[in-house]
Amino acid sequence: MTELPRIPTGGGCREEPILKQRGQREVFCGLTGIIWLHRKMQDAFFLVIGSRTCAHLLQSAAGVMIFAEPRFGTAILEETDLAGLADAQTELDKVVDQLLARRTDIKQLFLVGSCPSEVIKLDLSRAAERMTEKYAPSVRVLNFSGSGIETTFTQGEDACLAAMVPVLPKTDEKQLLLVGALPDVVEEQAVSLLQQMGIGPIKVLPAPRADSDLGIGENTVFALTQPFLGDTHAALERRGAHHIAAPFPFGEEGTTAWLRAVADQFDVTDETFARVTDAPRARARKAISQASESLRGKSVFFFPDSQLEIPLARFLTRECGMDAIEVGAPFIHKGIVGPDLDMLAKGPVLSEGQDVDLQLDRCRAARPDLTVCGLGLANPLEADGLATKWAIELVFTPVHFYEQAGDLAGLFSRPMRRAGLLKLEAAE
Ligand code: SF4
Repeated sequence: MTELPRIPTGGGCREEPILKQRGQREVFCGLTGIIWLHRKMQDAFFLVIGSRTCAHLLQSAAGVMIFAEPRFGTAILEETDLAGLADAQTELDKVVDQLLARRTDIKQLFLVGSCPSEVIKLDLSRAAERMTEKYAPSVRVLNFSGSGIETTFTQGEDACLAAMVPVLPKTDEKQLLLVGALPDVVEEQAVSLLQQMGIGPIKVLPAPRADSDLGIGENTVFALTQPFLGDTHAALERRGAHHIAAPFPFGEEGTTAWLRAVADQFDVTDETFARVTDAPRARARKAISQASESLRGKSVFFFPDSQLEIPLARFLTRECGMDAIEVGAPFIHKGIVGPDLDMLAKGPVLSEGQDVDLQLDRCRAARPDLTVCGLGLANPLEADGLATKWAIELVFTPVHFYEQAGDLAGLFSRPMRRAGLLKLEAAE
């Protein structure tokens, strides 16, 4: 029988008090999600209705698209639009007409809101409805917001997936839906493990193409692969689908607990589960133990950024031997990260939201061995002699499931090793 990860005696952190602060925040906006989403949805186009700043953000972050036919672009709101002198809806219609006339490969068009379009209260849902009437059935037009007002960067994916759920067809088929955009190689590994257990049919949201057979209904059970999908979770439940609550598949323990929670929904026996998972579990344990040598006994401090903080703190403390001083997350949705909180031993400060100056004070006072934070905070903290890890890398790098568990530990040990080398050089 496969031994499952244990919840710490004395309970985990689920019922621990949460420090809630609201003030200045340091995060990227939700447009960032387009950079990985456009790779997953091969017939989609993301049209940002924004400013030149939005266009620069996208182009600098996803410059690789320069040589290909891009699957995202920015309709720039000029001063006349912002001042209300031009009818932005008419202008938008013109841009979309031109785009869809030129690009017949586009089957899903996302109108993506930004800070400027929110400030002038441009109604993109009305625009999407109007365009859907005009272009259906060959193109589906949806809208979501990627604005940086009151959001953090992973909310862009959540908003995009949540926008897709209401228009999915209904199905009564018993099926497993994996929810979250993973790198293809990681998604294939997950699907392969589940299929080896006899689980199926398995569908994925986002589906690679608009005309896939993805439907949703009361016999759909879904497992999130990313902890930042709160709105998508709510939209799926509104369609009658059932959420499988589980720790997230980071590290050997998280992956085993996640797979076991899914397997339980499909009556997979302990023998089958062990046959499929024992070998990759052993490989993951070995890889983690090698990659985490420099992490053991070291302290870590999380600023709120990617929304991966709680599952990662669980992984780093339980499997890599680190001590968490503070685990800050932009939002704490216990229906989603509750199982990870159960496994996280009491001790760290749990904080939700951010007042960055106060949190920087706490971080500088604690002087952690490693600080996980956004790009904007990393340089000042490095200048103070603190080793940092950019949270955004954790979303861009394949880190889920067994075969990536060693790489995940390695992502945290590299900045620690670099900091150690720099100290040595300084001492010489
Ligand atoms: S959406 Fe807002 S935060 Fe994001 S690039 Fe545009 S203006 Fe900047």
